[in-house]
Amino acid sequence: MALRKIVEVGDECLNKVCRPVTEFNPHLHQLLDDMAETLTEARGAGLAAPQVGVLRRACLVMDEETEEYLELINPEIIDQRGEQTGLEGCLSVPNKWGIVTRPAWVRVRAQDRDGAWFEVEGTGMNARCFCHEIEHLDGHLYTEHIDHFLSEDELREYLEAEEEE
Ligand code: ZN
Repeated sequence: MALRKIVEVGDECLNKVCRPVTEFNPHLHQLLDDMAETLTEARGAGLAAPQVGVLRRACLVMDEETEEYLELINPEIIDQRGEQTGLEGCLSVPNKWGIVTRPAWVRVRAQDRDGAWFEVEGTGMNARCFCHEIEHLDGHLYTEHIDHFLSEDELREYLEAEEEE
């Protein structure tokens, strides 16, 4: 396994529509292993292949409960319900935060690293993360959904209010 460099906003890889994964081979497995290592090192909740410069439809999302990374190949959101509004950041937009509204619940259809199709549901942070990572595969960033980045004061106030809940 090896760490990969996470590209940052301004890099054109983040604005491209990624191509489907068609070969479920050792090359893909190496990419996924490297992405898991890179994500662990960065202490992130999710990472999409274009963020490491690979324009393929693959991403990792951390399961909020097990804290394990779920590998999603060619993922699609096939159903969604409700709404949640909360804090969001991105490893490709370092040290910045915004408030984004996302579905409260989503169902995702995806393939695993060997090509088998499965479905997974998520609420809360998981639903937010599925939406954020799958959006990366179409060349979109969460920053398109916000009108401003939180200031340090706004971030502190948000986190304090959350702790009181
Ligand atoms: Zn991101």
